[in-house]
Amino acid sequence: MISFYPGPSRVYDQVPKYVKDAHAAGILSMNHRSPEFMAMMKKTLTLLKRKLSIPKDYTILFTSSATECWEVVAQSWITDKSFHLYNGAFGQKWYDYTRKLKPGATALPFDREAVLNPGQFVFEGTENVICITQNETSNGTQVSNELIRTIRAGNPQHIIAVDVTSSLAGVKLDFSAADIWLASVQKCFGLPAGLGIMICSPGAVEHARAIDNRQFYNSAVVMIDMIGKWQTSFTPNVMGIYLLMRVMEKVKPINAIHKLTASRYKNWMKMLDKKPTLRHLIRNEAVRSLTVLPLEADEKTISKIKKSAKENGFLLGDGYGDLKSTTLRIANFPAITDREIKALMKFLAGQR
Ligand SMILES: *Cc1c(COP(=O)(O)O)cnc(C)c1O
Repeated sequence: MISFYPGPSRVYDQVPKYVKDAHAAGILSMNHRSPEFMAMMKKTLTLLKRKLSIPKDYTILFTSSATECWEVVAQSWITDKSFHLYNGAFGQKWYDYTRKLKPGATALPFDREAVLNPGQFVFEGTENVICITQNETSNGTQVSNELIRTIRAGNPQHIIAVDVTSSLAGVKLDFSAADIWLASVQKCFGLPAGLGIMICSPGAVEHARAIDNRQFYNSAVVMIDMIGKWQTSFTPNVMGIYLLMRVMEKVKPINAIHKLTASRYKNWMKMLDKKPTLRHLIRNEAVRSLTVLPLEADEKTISKIKKSAKENGFLLGDGYGDLKSTTLRIANFPAITDREIKALMKFLAGQR
């Protein structure tokens, strides 16, 4: 079965070998306070910064999931208000979780066909948190680097937090334009689930230190202090970190990966142009995600394609939430091979 599911998704072919290597090298029972672990952590973070073009002065933290990162943002950075810019289910979930912890959370939804227009929203105060879902996995839309830069320029004192769970390591991101970039590894990293990543600007670190909330094992300041010693505040997913290190060693720098993602996206669009029964859910090309493709058809066609895909060895993503019966989603993640994409395109071309 070839997985085109947009998370958990296809892992890199080398992952089983890396797991074996991890066992042989004693990684699976490695002590997370040992010098060996600290060296592995240091190497992993250095590679992440180098391969993804993350500024050297940023701090990278590990959690267990992107959802946990949402909670850390709420607990460690939001003191008063947060503003949630979203157009789909993941952005809405982030807002819902935050609202339970911080009643000052404010929803600022926008239409999924619309280019986000930050000028139409009011971000009160000067030091609140603006939350943006950069790549909305549920409906296949994205917010551009340019737009995030515009929001940064207009709100220099606010902390800007960006959910890049289904785009980090798949497309080029301008980390200088925001303070907290959160994700997990079971999407564009081509790794098994169980590891969340939070990339923090010096401003975000300073802000967390000023607030100094130390109530939780995963309070940002506690994690920041620990990562200064190449450690974590809890026993982390050591194998996950090892696998991330191996994959980061192997993958090309993000500029090359971005090119691949963008050219594959173009090929998918070309293929869809020739397919009247199946079309991109999003009409506005300017807001389409490069990494998650939501395809729309009538209910009967969608269920037929899904069923037949399974019989032919392709696992396609279900539509999300209320789009479940009329859409399916295809991951355009780097671990998928050209051969697999060709095979799926051929299969879809033969469907009516
Ligand atoms: C998958 C996803 C999440 C949730 O990730 P977990 O690691 O399961 O917590 C959050 N946001 C977006 C945009 C996602 O695609």
